Amino acid sequence: MDNCLFCKIAEKTIPSTAVYEDDELYAFKDIHPHAPVHLLVIPKKHFSTLSDCTPDDAPLLGKMLALAPRLAGEFGCAVSYDDQGQPVAGFKTVINSGPDGGQEVYHLHMHVIGGAHPWRNER
Ligand code: 5GP
Ligand code: ZN
Repeated sequence: MDNCLFCKIAEKTIPSTAVYEDDELYAFKDIHPHAPVHLLVIPKKHFSTLSDCTPDDAPLLGKMLALAPRLAGEFGCAVSYDDQGQPVAGFKTVINSGPDGGQEVYHLHMHVIGGAHPWRNER
């Protein structure tokens, strides 16, 4: 896709800090992190938004989602359990879609956000 920032990042025309890559997916550090861990997972195939995906894309979307806990583990924020069996640590996975969804870059991407975070005390 011409003129797409994240296509160029996936093609390495624009530099980024890679954290994962395979034939279908690329993951890299967000340039303006909202938390100590803030990664973006993108499909190499261009989709402008989640709304452009179809049921045929479910395996690819599932693969993106399944990558999140693996990356969270590598970056020290996977959910684990303490001696009482209570969950500790953790991360958010977010896909913003369209203007009302707060999407700024129109190449489908999933945020993986973890570490110390501002929303922890909101509950
Ligand atoms: P959105 O609001 O579209 O869900 O999020 C877009 C994200 O892409 C933002 O968190 C923003 O910081 C990140 N971003 C925008 N431009 C770049 C860039 O050139 N490189 C990297 N690594 N991240 C970017
Ligand atoms: Zn693109």
